[in-house]
Amino acid sequence: MTDDATENPNHGKIIPLARRRRCPICGQPQVHAFRPFCSQRCADQDLGRWLTGSYRIAADEEADVDEDADGGS
Ligand SMILES: [Zn+2]
Repeated sequence: MTDDATENPNHGKIIPLARRRRCPICGQPQVHAFRPFCSQRCADQDLGRWLTGSYRIAADEEADVDEDADGGS
């Protein structure tokens, strides 16, 4: 159904957040050069989160066995 388009012909013109994307890390307006981030710093942080997150999951599984064999701290 395209009733929406007929009822709101200006709907396509109203783009509140689509044009104003913000950095997912710090919330500042993103910079074209570092999209979708605001700076290289935030881009690195996001990458770090990703790597840390993946590492954590993998490490967590191994830590369970390692800790047992290591006897904890
Ligand atoms: Zn940022």
